[in-house]
This record gives sequence, structure tokens and C-alpha cells, in this order.
Amino acid sequence: MKAMIGLEIHVQMTEAGSKLFCDCKANYRGMEPNSNICPVCIGLPGALPVVNKRSVELALAASLAFNCHVPDYIVFTRKHYFYPDLPKNYQISMYERAGGVPICRGGKVRYLDIHSWEWKECRLRRINIEEDPGRTIYGEGGILRSSEAYVDYNRSGVPLLEIITEPDLKSAREARQLVEYVLLVLEYLGATNPRLEGAFRVDANVSVEGGERVEVKNIGSTLDVEKAINFEIMRQSAIISSGGKVERETRHWDAERGSTRPLRQKEQEEDYLYFPDPDLPAIALRDMLPKAKAIASSSDPAALFEKAISLGVQRELAWSMVTARPSLMLYLEAVERGADPQLAARIIAVDYKGELREREKDPHDPANWPSADTIVELSRLMKEGAYTYDAIKGIVLPKLAENPAADLKLLLPQRAENLEQVIEEVLKREERAVKDYLSGKAQALNYLVGAVIRAAGKRALDPRAIREAIERRLAKK
Ligand code: ADP
Ligand code: MG
Ligand code: ZN
Repeated sequence: MKAMIGLEIHVQMTEAGSKLFCDCKANYRGMEPNSNICPVCIGLPGALPVVNKRSVELALAASLAFNCHVPDYIVFTRKHYFYPDLPKNYQISMYERAGGVPICRGGKVRYLDIHSWEWKECRLRRINIEEDPGRTIYGEGGILRSSEAYVDYNRSGVPLLEIITEPDLKSAREARQLVEYVLLVLEYLGATNPRLEGAFRVDANVSVEGGERVEVKNIGSTLDVEKAINFEIMRQSAIISSGGKVERETRHWDAERGSTRPLRQKEQEEDYLYFPDPDLPAIALRDMLPKAKAIASSSDPAALFEKAISLGVQRELAWSMVTARPSLMLYLEAVERGADPQLAARIIAVDYKGELREREKDPHDPANWPSADTIVELSRLMKEGAYTYDAIKGIVLPKLAENPAADLKLLLPQRAENLEQVIEEVLKREERAVKDYLSGKAQALNYLVGAVIRAAGKRALDPRAIREAIERRLAKK
């Protein structure tokens, strides 16, 4: 059955430094509960909000990146409701009516569907800047059965972007691709680290032909976006095929069970009593525009992807680098400094990345990647024929993955001519071990390999190659 899907994507600006209206930290992870709080973000009487300019700049850059219509000024709005994790009893958010002015209206996201390698388009309705509420943690039995609830306000006031799409998405997979792409853009802008726990949440509005739309809340991963929407499409289609009616409602995604269940009938917008926040003046955007434009244009993943493609990189490899930003930046810098575009892509996107994966090292952490100089040097050595790709891949890359800052000179295997000479000398000197080996004592070979490695100094050597070289020589005797 034909489906229509619209999303509300809430993304924490984890990289904004501080919370939206106070100096507490935007990234509260690993902190003791209720240690990242102040009078403003726990709503004590008399405390006044002061906007974090960086959050607005980043939100503005996001609006530009998504081709939004940007207003001259923004006006924050209060959205009222009661909940223990909302200490002021209102959330400072944005709204397009009642005197509020959101940071973006209209706009569209061009996102890559990596199954078809097609660029698709999804229109945006709005982007709001708002505060995250605190976090309610329930005892055993969860929200439905537990008799205890604890509130942690460390998250209260963290800046969020609320990105609301038009219902342009037609499948669960498209919705997932869109979310992944939006997160990628926001990561490139320096607004968020989407891999941090709880960095984003998605609400999905899903309807099928002949039914009302259902809003599914609490989707916390991109995989779950796909699962939750597929579940809803199936559930709603089954109701309609059997002659039933799908009513407008809000449901909750239960990731553990892989199903949605009813939460409440949808409240009406007037229930929230929206009005402009009298504690916050309207904020003019003009002065922030140049900086936001610079951020948006220099960190567009689509443009960087095209750049890698134009260097002759296969699209799969190019995309693999785009999705791990430090690897793409390393690649572009190395090529700029003279590395061969193909060799560099193969090292970075295939074999070095594979070594990181094997060691469960995070490819998103720049500290896990070598310097551009190292890549340039490896590329030069291979081009000159000093080393084969296999030698670099088998000997250098694993060691580099262990220690990306290691001195390349110490990791490079001894060149063959040189090594033959060292082996020659060692065999001459170690008469006894040679005799033992020739008389059938296999252990003597290990000793000889060790002696060659010691004689070669600190250089990295491939023990198997040495063993074979020694065997070859002694076979002649
Ligand atoms: P609300 O006022 O409840 O937030 P909106 O009209 O602002 O509702 O829409 C919320 C979301 O629902 C938007 O992302 C929009 O794209 C989506 N949406 C609207 N109509 C449909 C529909 N028929 N099917 C699926 N999603 C829809
Ligand atoms: Mg909403
Ligand atoms: Zn605070």
C-alpha cells in the first residue's frame, strides 16, 4: 500500500559548547546526575536566559545548508506543558504562529540514496531551535509499571535542532537515508556528533492510502527509523485491508519488541499555549550570516563527495570516506600534497580502514588516522616501485593502525637487496646454528630469523619473508 512519511528529527547540538541559554555544558555525557545544572536550566525563579550565540550560528549554517528561507530575525516561543523533567513548565522553542519566528521556513534536503546512488529530494517545513528537557529515569518496570522515577537535569537546556520535513518520503528506507544524510551534514557543519548516545531522536508521521496519519515517537537510531516505519506501514495496511479505520493517534516505538504501541490521542496545538518568550529579545541574524555562510559552504558533504569522484575514486569508496569525515579530510589533504588519488583511496578507504575495523578502533576519531605526509610518502614509495602494494598493506598498515603516529621509516620493511646482505653476514657468523639447521634441527631456523632481525637494527621486517630467504639460501648447501 502507498505510504506517506514525514519526519521530525531532533538533533542535539552536542558541539555547541554550552547549553542554549546558560553556561552549562552541551555535552553532559559521563557526568554525575544533576551536576551539569545552574539556576537557569533548572528554572529557578528570577533566573534569566541568555542565548548561546554559537548555537544560533550553527542553526543558521544548517538552515543555509538545507536551502531554507532565512528570516531577518528570530523570535523564541514558549511551549507550555507539565512534566517533571521540564522544570519551568514550558520549553523555549520556536513556532511559526502567535508571533514566533523560526530559524528556517521551507527549504529542502538533497540526500543520497546509496542503494540506487540517486540524489533524492525532500522538502522541509521548518527548522526550530529549542531546549532539550531533562531526563526521567524510571525504576524497574519502566514508564508503565515502575513506582519510582528519577529526574536528571544534566540534559535540561541542551540546544536542539528540530527539523520538520514535508511528507515527501515514500518508504522506510528513504526515511532512513534522509535521516542519515541530515546527520552527516550537521556533523560536517560541526554542530553535532551523531554517534553520542542520545544525540538524536526521530518522530515519524506515517499514513497509508485511505487512513489518518499516526505519529510514532521515541525512535533513537537510524536503523530503528527504518524498522519503526516498516512496522507502521504493515500495521496500518493490515487494518485498512480488513476494512478497518486508522485513526489519528500518537504511538510509542518499543525498540526491544520491535513494535509500536498506543501512547495517547494527539493533543491539539492550542493546548500548548504558545507565545513569544518575554525574557528573550528578537535576535537579528544579519551579523551572523557571513560566518554561517562560510561554515555551510566549506563543509558540504555532497560537494566533497563530488570532489573525490572527480579525482577518479569509485563512488563506493568515495562514500565510505565521506561517512568517516577524518578519512575524507586526510584523503583530500594527501592528494593535494601529491599522493596518487587511486593509491591513497585504496589505502585509506579499504585496507587501512579494514585494519581499524579489525582492532575495533573508531574511524571517526582523527587520532586513529596517520598524517597526510605518511600517505604521501607511502604513495611515492609504491609509485617508484620501492615497495609493492602488498608489502605496504601486509607489513606497514597493520603497524600504522596500532600506532598512527609511528615513524614511517621504522615501519618500512628492509628492502630486498639490503636484507640479502644482512642474511649473508648472519649466516657466515652463525656457523653453528647453520650446521644445526642443516642436520635437521628445525628450531635453529627460528634462532637465525631472530639473529637477522637483530642484525637489521630497529627496522620493521617481515619474519616470514626472512625465514623463506634463509631457507632458500641454505637449500643450496
Ligand atoms: P503537528 O502540528 O501535529 O506537528 P504538522 O502538520 O506540523 O503536524 O506535521 C507534522 C509532521 O507530519 C510533518 O513532518 C509532516 O510532514 C507530517 N505529515 C503531515 N501530513 C502527513 C500525512 N498525511 N502522512 C504522513 N505524514 C504527514
Ligand atoms: Mg511537533
Ligand atoms: Zn545551566
